[in-house]
Amino acid sequence: MIEGPKPTGPLRPKLWRGLKMSCPNCGEAKLFRAFLKPVEHCACCGVNWGEVRADDGPAWASMLVAGHLTAPVFHWIVFREDWPVWASITGVSLFLAALCVLLLQPMKGLFMAIIWDKGAPTSG
Ligand SMILES: [Zn+2]
Repeated sequence: MIEGPKPTGPLRPKLWRGLKMSCPNCGEAKLFRAFLKPVEHCACCGVNWGEVRADDGPAWASMLVAGHLTAPVFHWIVFREDWPVWASITGVSLFLAALCVLLLQPMKGLFMAIIWDKGAPTSG
């Protein structure tokens, strides 16, 4: 059971706050103390974010979204005849990897908001 205030109200604002990497409950404090390390407790409302485990969900969602966003870039790069093959492969790979890394933290915030709101069991 997650300590602190219980979720109330609609899910959508909580998801948006999680995507913005702020506390899904109050939106006033930061959700992460390092890249993927959540704060133990929210400094404003006291939700215990240290107990919420998103596991592999954020990585899966990041790759899913990044893959779909990369498809047009992939086609644009691959069908360029003036680029060598090694440049095309490197360009697509770097774009995809950068997008995955950029999406990872917002996706973790999103998953933590869903897990907290639904009261899913935690591994802690
Ligand atoms: Zn808070």
